[in-house]
Formats: sequence, C-alpha cells, structure tokens
Amino acid sequence: MKPVYFEILDFESKIPDNYYYEDLGYTNNLLEKTKEIYKNLGLPNDNAFLKKRGAVIEHIRGGRNILFDLENDGLLDCMFYTPFSNLAVEIHTRGHEEAHAIQHFGLEKELRKKLDLSCLTKLSCEFFCDRAGLVAVKKRRLKLPEGFFTGVPGKHYFPRD
Ligand SMILES: [Zn+2]
Repeated sequence: MKPVYFEILDFESKIPDNYYYEDLGYTNNLLEKTKEIYKNLGLPNDNAFLKKRGAVIEHIRGGRNILFDLENDGLLDCMFYTPFSNLAVEIHTRGHEEAHAIQHFGLEKELRKKLDLSCLTKLSCEFFCDRAGLVAVKKRRLKLPEGFFTGVPGKHYFPRD
C-alpha cells in the first residue's frame, strides 16, 4: 500500500501499489485532453469510442475524471479541469472530481466519515460527489454562484467570464 492525498478535499488514505492517481491540472478543452490521454494509453480516441466509454463528449468546460482498468496492472484514475473564473466553482468542481477518484479506489466510506456525510448511505455517485464538493466550498467559506446546481447531480451551470 502507498499513501494518496486529495488536495481539495484534504483527504489522505492508502491505496494498493498498483493504483495510480493523477491530478493533471488545467487544460483548455476537456474533450481534447480526453483524446490525448486515450491516445497516450494506446487506445482508440474517436468520439464514438469515447461515448461508448461513457464520456460526455459535449462537455468542453468544467472537470473530468476518467478511470482506466489496467487489468493485471491495476487502476489508473486521472482528473483534469478547465481554468475557472470563480474560486467557489473551482473548489466544487475539483472536489467533485476528487470524490470520483475516491469512489473508484473504494474509499468512499472513509471519506463519508471524514466529511460527516455518514448518514447519507444510498446516494447516487454524482450526488455524493456534489456533496463532497459542497463541503469543500463551505469549509473555505465560499459561495457558489446562483444557478450552479441545475437539479441534475453532476450537471452544473458554469458562469461565463
Ligand atoms: Zn461527476
């Protein structure tokens, strides 16, 4: 096992040696970055393939987390995001994507405990990640812009600059 740290959620844990977590930072276009990562892993990266893998190819702005099953070589989870003009939106988005990684690594229960979301047992993946992001925003005493939550978990309104 080795240590893993999620900066925005300030959450530390341990993952198996063959699990890899990479916060790739900012990118200008979620779709282009997604294609680059698939290509680097030697995978097809056309829109049809990405759609089949569950990527929302229409999403250009915001954040994205992708899990790759490296089969016998373990798991690779990576996340990236476009630059933000609003700090609360940035904290929420990055916290949300970190929560996906935490779910992928089977550490959700641990995070629930740390964030005191332990009473919420049966949440959808997206709703859980939204809650985690919201806790990160509130801890920093920030406020999300009006209309950020659209009513669909995981789907947010990103204000233009
Ligand atoms: Zn999500």
